[in-house]
Amino acid sequence: MIDPFGREISYLRVSVTDRCDFRCVYCMSEHMTFLPRAELLTLEELERLCAAFIRKGVKRLRITGGEPLVRRNVMWLLERLGARLGGGLDELTLTTNGSQLARFAQALFAAGVRRVNVSLDTQDAAKFRAITRWGDLSKVMVGIDAAQAAGLSVKINTVALRDVNELEIPGMLEWAHGRGMDLTLIETMPLGDIEQDRAEQYLPLSLVRARLAQRYTLEESDHRTGGPARYVRVAETGGRLGFITPLTHNFCESCNRVRVTCTGTLFMCLGQNDSADLRAALRASKDDGLLDAAIDEGIARKPKGHDFVIDRRRQAPALMRHMSLTGG
Ligand code: SAM
Ligand code: SF4
Repeated sequence: MIDPFGREISYLRVSVTDRCDFRCVYCMSEHMTFLPRAELLTLEELERLCAAFIRKGVKRLRITGGEPLVRRNVMWLLERLGARLGGGLDELTLTTNGSQLARFAQALFAAGVRRVNVSLDTQDAAKFRAITRWGDLSKVMVGIDAAQAAGLSVKINTVALRDVNELEIPGMLEWAHGRGMDLTLIETMPLGDIEQDRAEQYLPLSLVRARLAQRYTLEESDHRTGGPARYVRVAETGGRLGFITPLTHNFCESCNRVRVTCTGTLFMCLGQNDSADLRAALRASKDDGLLDAAIDEGIARKPKGHDFVIDRRRQAPALMRHMSLTGG
């Protein structure tokens, strides 16, 4: 799959549910209305859809959500997808809030998953509860232990939040690196109505990086994981630190990915509204011809880049859909 700008699309992120057992302040409103079940792709439909993308050249597949591990029978899907590793698919990964990892870590490894990203913004239990509204830090910590014990390589994703966790970042870095985990920092993106002021949460990573550079030796690294993060090596800890900076730095020129929501909508860009309805194609026929054509038609419309801006006056989200729908 080659898009109009010559980029080869080899990375697919699939959201398997819009539901979650947390209500993170930058991601969801406290009173979310979730989709009716009939709107969601069934697990069989999700498998058919992923198989079509793998046939078309997707090598890396990331399962996300919402919280992917709260989708009933999600392991069925992961096992089926894992069976394609080596047969076209190179890597199957998962992004999770970690709350259910203790229960699933071994099964994930057995299915062929080798890397998981765990989202964790703080190590302070009270702050964790304030950020996630419903989360329990101790469960996530047990989940991380279980993941490492099962042989999964864990990367920690931390959203940098002004006045909330900005002072904790060096501590998070030393903790993560001390346990052999990479840490990636993410800027908040203006996605979905969250009943809060985004500009207030926004902490530019250029500032975080400059502060870290006063304390640590940050060595440029050409390490890539197929995602948008740019990495440095921290000389003092020997670990890797990634930065995902959609607002301060445009990462679009090397974008190799597309996303599918849990309703089968293909978004060619996280920061644009343009989409293609793959569910209609999936449900119209058992034959994959229509699905293949709908995917090709969508890829042919992949835009050059996003145009996220935080509108400080209106405080309106750049896009109305939540990250939990599209999958982070
Ligand atoms: N529930 C899983 C989790 O939290 O890892 C997977 C889905 S979550 C939407 C994926 C990632 O998106 C998380 O790391 C989360 O912190 C991030 N995220 C959610 N809303 C965001 C926003 N508005 N800006 C930046 N990152 C966001
Ligand atoms: Fe749930 Fe992940 Fe969104 Fe938090 S960031 S509310 S854990 S989907």
